[in-house]
Amino acid sequence: MTISRLSGGWDTSLSFEQITDIFTLLMNLIGLMMCLFLYFEHTRRSITFAVVFFLTNLLSEYYWVIYTLVMDDSPQVSSFFAYFGWNLAFVAPVFIQLSLRKERGRRGISPVAFLPVMATIPQFLLYLQFGGIFNNIWQCFWTTVIACLAVDAIVAYFRCKDYDKVFPYLNVVLLLFVIFEYTEWTASCYAWPSDALNPYYYFSILVSLCYVLIPGALSREYGMADEGNARSDFSNGRLMRLFKPIYIIFVTVFCVGGYFLTRWIRRTLVSGTLGEAGSDAYLIIDVLLFVVSFVIVTFTVMIILIVNSEKKTFERREIEAAKYLAERSNEAKSDFLANMSHEIRTPINAVLGLNEMILRESLKGRDDLPDEREDIKSIFSEICNYSGNIDSAGKNLLSIINDILDFSKIEAGKLEIVDNDYQLSSVLNDVSNMIMFKAKSKGLEYDVEVDESIPDILHGDEVRVRQIVTNLLNNAVKYTDNGSVTLSVSEKKIPGAAEDDCTSLVFSVKDTGIGIRDEDRSRLFGKFERMDIKKNSTIEGTGLGLAITGNLVEMMGGTIDVESHYGLGSTFTAAIPQKVVSDEAIGDFREKFKASIDNLHARQEPFHAKDSVILVVDDTPMNLMVVKGLLKNTQISIDTAGGGAQSVEMCRQKKYDVILMDQRMPEMDGTTAMRHIREDDAGMNKDTPFVCLTADAVSGAKDKYISEGFDDYLTKPIEIDKLEEVLMEYIDKEKINKVMGGK
Ligand code: ADP
Repeated sequence: MTISRLSGGWDTSLSFEQITDIFTLLMNLIGLMMCLFLYFEHTRRSITFAVVFFLTNLLSEYYWVIYTLVMDDSPQVSSFFAYFGWNLAFVAPVFIQLSLRKERGRRGISPVAFLPVMATIPQFLLYLQFGGIFNNIWQCFWTTVIACLAVDAIVAYFRCKDYDKVFPYLNVVLLLFVIFEYTEWTASCYAWPSDALNPYYYFSILVSLCYVLIPGALSREYGMADEGNARSDFSNGRLMRLFKPIYIIFVTVFCVGGYFLTRWIRRTLVSGTLGEAGSDAYLIIDVLLFVVSFVIVTFTVMIILIVNSEKKTFERREIEAAKYLAERSNEAKSDFLANMSHEIRTPINAVLGLNEMILRESLKGRDDLPDEREDIKSIFSEICNYSGNIDSAGKNLLSIINDILDFSKIEAGKLEIVDNDYQLSSVLNDVSNMIMFKAKSKGLEYDVEVDESIPDILHGDEVRVRQIVTNLLNNAVKYTDNGSVTLSVSEKKIPGAAEDDCTSLVFSVKDTGIGIRDEDRSRLFGKFERMDIKKNSTIEGTGLGLAITGNLVEMMGGTIDVESHYGLGSTFTAAIPQKVVSDEAIGDFREKFKASIDNLHARQEPFHAKDSVILVVDDTPMNLMVVKGLLKNTQISIDTAGGGAQSVEMCRQKKYDVILMDQRMPEMDGTTAMRHIREDDAGMNKDTPFVCLTADAVSGAKDKYISEGFDDYLTKPIEIDKLEEVLMEYIDKEKINKVMGGK
């Protein structure tokens, strides 16, 4: 465009140059609209810059058309604005590219990207002979930056396809744009035999074509990334359907109308001849052009602002709707989990309980048989083996269900820390017993080191402390193939705490296992996160254990840390504040534990009570069999009832020492049955202790049942130790004969 203008006659047919100018203006108009509508769909910074590019370019081209078609190339304000807008427009593509780079996380620049500088230097020297120095420096600088950034993006795409899956369409178009511009300018530096042979015009058309390719390229880049985005709902909405035609009509009318108005002004006011520069006609046309551009820019900006605010409202509404949906589905999830807890625990209870009976009977059968019945003994051994496997798989399944339940309770904010007095040595003894067995079966050493001065009686949530230590120890055994697992327990006084009132228990679990990579450490406590998947593919796990452990420690006001050397082992350290109840120290725990291990023998029931009779109420016959089987050795007489109503009837006939009552039963639930029995004047069990037996393990369930009148609460699957403990407490002491050496 820096070539000398070819004369464009007034009232004569349009010259080649004028046609290309109008074509460019048209392409710009289309480009602007495409970009604006694209912006409605994807509010991105790069598209905003594209709108700025087209707006400045459109005004520049518009002024240029007026300049060549109406003003007969008279150097006036019109041409000044045309150049000004044109120069300004070169800056926008750089910002489009920079925002795309930022979105893709691209940093640095490859040396190849500087290649276009080589092409710019001769071009710059060539243009210097024409046009102003400022124009040339400005244009060369910005077009070079555009080209360098484009080359960089293209090289980066081909060098490392992973960094960016989307092909850099925009950068390719911009590179073409710069190449066409350079060729166009170079052509304008030479004289040509005729318009038809002048490459300037053809390249100017190619440049104009790039204008419609720019929004197309942007739409491809974002369209791919945002497929199925909810925003398209917004861009298809009523508001957008209204705005689009209004904008198209408005901008077109202003451009075309402005053109005809300036023509009319020129023809009518100055009768076809323009006066001196600065005459009234020039002034009127200049003011008119300014008004047109001002209105177009203001209208465009206004539309962008309205669309933005509408979009925010739309998105807010969408978020509110999504939040409502999420809350509803979370409630549904909690209900589902509560039900699942019951539904799954009940059959597992039956499986584990009946399996325990098979195991016991088979062991007994094997031990009772004389040695010469080797054949049958080996069958019993086989059965024991299978039964042992069922037991471990069942317990594994139960622990997964418990983890899922716990985690959903944590997520729903429903997990409560329930503090009570407890004995630390008993917790350590239980977890050590359990883990010792697991470690031994894997050929690992298990050691426990407990600081002798730690207080033994503490106040806190025993169940959760046990869960934290068990989780860490289980992981240590799971992720260690040889070597040892060591549990160390020490104490760290909490500074500022009332003397001896509060202490921080430090549980440290050290293993010589596979270790954890440094880069995986930040993900360790995330939900469903499992590290080193390839190596651990054979190890069972859900990735919930540490997430639960981390949350529990945090809820108790403690901290958890990991130290690990990949390939050598890890140490997990959890510090948990607990209240101290008495000064009594734990003493030499390791010695006591060793002694108890040495004395370990086959499980023996702790008491016999052959004169006592209890009633078990459950609608699932399998559960009744389980309880009967579990209590067989205690010699207690057991009556069973298959429902609430039947139990009320039976309680009229016989006095029971204890009634074990299931909760969820058809027709009459456990609580109602208990009330009927207690209030029944003809009944014999008004004062009989009731133990609620339920699979309902949701937090707060125990308090609920006790407040409803139950004396105690046991969860299914039934743990034999707990069942025996509860019965020992409620059956008359005279009827109980303690067994020597019983557990
Ligand atoms: P999982 O059920 O998979 O064991 P966790 O949440 O308990 O889930 O642990 C998450 C991941 O952390 C595990 O999959 C494992 O990769 C890693 N991890 C946990 N404890 C250890 C350990 N003691 N040694 C090595 N890796 C461990």
